[in-house]
Amino acid sequence: MAFEQAKSALLASKAELEDRLQRTHKHIYQKDEAVSAQFDEQIKQTENDQLVYALEEEAKEELNQIRKALQRIDDGSYGQCVHCGEDIAPQRLEAVPFAEFCIGCASQV
Ligand SMILES: [Zn+2]
Repeated sequence: MAFEQAKSALLASKAELEDRLQRTHKHIYQKDEAVSAQFDEQIKQTENDQLVYALEEEAKEELNQIRKALQRIDDGSYGQCVHCGEDIAPQRLEAVPFAEFCIGCASQV
């Protein structure tokens, strides 16, 4: 199968992202340490939380794209630009296995 390699790369990043999401989720929703009474500490904590939220959003977005790419492998449309239908360059797919657009369309969006 031509996209065997892409599929295993996608599945590997999917597992990694799901693991990351589990950890950020825990960090956000299951804080066991009491909130510090010191103001400085609270600020640091808030900054840290915002960073974790940002990471979580990023991971969710990427996970979403990976799921769509896996679906495209299954239905046979993987490797084609979803915009113009041209084949996406193999080097691009290697660098970004979940790429939806060819390089030409990606630069227009
Ligand atoms: Zn295109």
